[in-house]
This record gives sequence, C-alpha cells and structure tokens, in this order.
Amino acid sequence: MLKIAHQLGFYRENMSCIFCKIVAGEISNYTVYEDANMLAFLDVHPCSKGHTVIVPKKHVENLSAMDGELWNTTLAGVQQALKKVYTALKPDGVNIGINDGEAAGQTVPHVHWHIIPRYKGDAGGSVHSIIRSKESFDVSAVAKMFS
Ligand code: 5GP
Ligand code: ZN
Repeated sequence: MLKIAHQLGFYRENMSCIFCKIVAGEISNYTVYEDANMLAFLDVHPCSKGHTVIVPKKHVENLSAMDGELWNTTLAGVQQALKKVYTALKPDGVNIGINDGEAAGQTVPHVHWHIIPRYKGDAGGSVHSIIRSKESFDVSAVAKMFS
C-alpha cells in the first residue's frame, strides 16, 4: 500500500523535507526525468542553463545512509537524467556533484545529485575550484591513514 501511495505521489516520506514535498507533488517542479525510484527536476536557483537536481524518492539524508540497492537505483537514475540533459540542451560538458554534509555545502538534508551543464566560454571552474586548502599535506602520510 505504501509503495502504491508512493508511486502515485501522495505519500510524503518526511513531513518537513522540501524534496519530499516535491516528490509528493505538494511543491511544483519542472521534471527532467522520473522513474519509480527517482525524480530529477530543474533547480530553482540554477548555476547554469539546465541545472538539474536528482533525488531518490525515498527520504535519505546523506550518502552514508544509503544502502547498496539505493546506490544502484540512484546511479541508474542519474545516468538517465544525464541523457535527458544532453539530448535537450546539448551542453558542451557537465559537472555532476553532491554536497554531502553541511561542511560540504549541503543545504537540503535529502540526498541529491547536481547535474550542472557546462557551455564553452561560460567562465565556470572545475571540481578543483570547490576548495583549495591552505594547508599542505604529505600525500604519503595521508595514504597511511587508509591502511
Ligand atoms: P544543496 O545546497 O543542498 O546541495 O542543494 C540544494 C539545491 O536545491 C539548491 O541548488 C537549491 O537551489 C535547490 N532547491 C531548494 N529548494 C528548491 C525548490 O523548492 N525547488 C527546486 N526546484 N529547487 C530547490
Ligand atoms: Zn526528504
């Protein structure tokens, strides 16, 4: 029953979550792609033409809370949404990113991918421009932290 309600769009996972409200149809959106598990829609404050946000319909706050099955369905949805963006807008490239956690800039605590279309001459940066730490690190010392 829960599943049917969810698919019909009237079940809202988290009462206070803005993305759950969008999934439930309580807040309107410009849909780019939708399947049983995922919804992709245009960002209300786009960084570029066609900036798209894609969310799992299930409320999950961050990447650490995602299980393997959700990773699989989510990445399949990201791939389909990406195809839609390339077909509709024919950008010269895209950046795909996740702000995972407040420290990384996450403002909506419902996991989501940003698909940011890029156009030649748009003067934007790359993923490398998100942060350039003032501290310098010994990479081999950091590598030891993984062993
Ligand atoms: P975050 O900063 O959490 O990574 O990204 C949240 C994104 O959701 C932001 O880019 C913001 O513009 C977008 N956003 C927030 N509220 C709404 C909304 O009500 N509708 C749409 N379409 N996008 C939203
Ligand atoms: Zn939510």
